[in-house]
Amino acid sequence: MSSNASEFDRARKVLVGGVNSAVRAFRAVGGTPRFIDRAQGAYMWDVEGRRYIDYLGSWGPMIAGHAHPHVLAAVERAARRGLSFGAPNVLESELAERICALFPQVERVRFTSSGTEATMSALRLARGVTGRDAVVKFEGCYHGTADSLLVKAGSGALAFGTPSSAGVPADLARHTLVAQYNDLPSVEALFAAHGERIACVIVEPVAGNMNLVLPAPGFLEGLRALCSKHGALLIFDEVMSGFRVALGGAQALGGVTPDLSAFGKVIGGGMPVGAVAGPAKIMEAMSPLGPVYQAGTLSGNPIAMAAGLATLDLIAEPGFFERLGARCARLVDGLNAAAREAGVTLCAQHLGGLAGLYMLESPPAGFADVQRQDGARFARFFHLMLDEGVYLPPSPVEAFFFSGAHSDEDVGATLAAVRRALRALG
Ligand SMILES: *Cc1c(COP(=O)(O)O)cnc(C)c1O
Repeated sequence: MSSNASEFDRARKVLVGGVNSAVRAFRAVGGTPRFIDRAQGAYMWDVEGRRYIDYLGSWGPMIAGHAHPHVLAAVERAARRGLSFGAPNVLESELAERICALFPQVERVRFTSSGTEATMSALRLARGVTGRDAVVKFEGCYHGTADSLLVKAGSGALAFGTPSSAGVPADLARHTLVAQYNDLPSVEALFAAHGERIACVIVEPVAGNMNLVLPAPGFLEGLRALCSKHGALLIFDEVMSGFRVALGGAQALGGVTPDLSAFGKVIGGGMPVGAVAGPAKIMEAMSPLGPVYQAGTLSGNPIAMAAGLATLDLIAEPGFFERLGARCARLVDGLNAAAREAGVTLCAQHLGGLAGLYMLESPPAGFADVQRQDGARFARFFHLMLDEGVYLPPSPVEAFFFSGAHSDEDVGATLAAVRRALRALG
């Protein structure tokens, strides 16, 4: 019989580190990654037949729960009509129409096959329409693996960015300026020094890749004002927050309108999809109408569009987000209560179906706070929970994900597991 350990040994012989995306290797928590055999609703089962209540949700896409019958039926219908055409299909227009209807400033959409391609294309578009090279990003925000975005702060507040990965040319990284999330003065300083060179500011309007960090009041408004003043584009990377913190994403909650948005994850419903979206006057600078080149063999793939459309059907139903938010709140409140009872430094918060659990006294205001967590302690907690049959993201710097399939019973079972784990953690 196959076991997680034997499958990991096998995988490491043919896949780098045994995985196809780094975080899956459990390097932050140690131990053996679980090889997933199947998933249904709020649960995943590993190859040993163990069931987990899943708070990973494939890192966001599975907001309707795994293998939802409505999504599966749409995928099956589409698959019977062919897997890929390399020519237009009407499902692309249908999904784009839904996105345009949900986001008031969006008039045109370009689908890609991943969030990485979406942010990469948004950056190229911003550089193309402004004729400027520099981009501003925030330490701790993640936008996928495009070279220009794998950049961290240099030494000194106003230093040029330096590559955060080998293989990213320093000459390219110097066009990426790195500011601090929720710290408007750090952005003002960059604009004061380099304003006429800055093509865009790219930001997660609700940060979900340094665990969950909410934007401070006035932060996004301030970015909007700075971009408008200096002729730079404001790009909201809503690959994670879109269709998850609210149906209309973070921009529906905050009242700040970006120039461009990047989407992914939920809009593919578990299939590979990303999108760049914005007003026609910016978007039409893209090929085939404009000079900014963009293309993809499998972009707008009919199966992926069908999965996204069916997922949107489910989450656009009246009351979906109210129910999702209320259950997630129950979980978060229960986590906070359990931590207080156990006298353990741990807290949690959520926005819609995006949640954060922190080895901290109170939710983090920015990247520095997130970094203050005790990684070894988180690793112990993670494995105690995994042994209890609860699958949390395997890193203290990752958010966790709630779905419409998580029931009150699942929340109750999770909280019972948390209380036992916290007692064992001490
Ligand atoms: C996941 C994510 C990406 C990258 O998307 P992929 O589909 O993994 O390439 C980009 N931005 C944000 C905010 C994300 O959460």
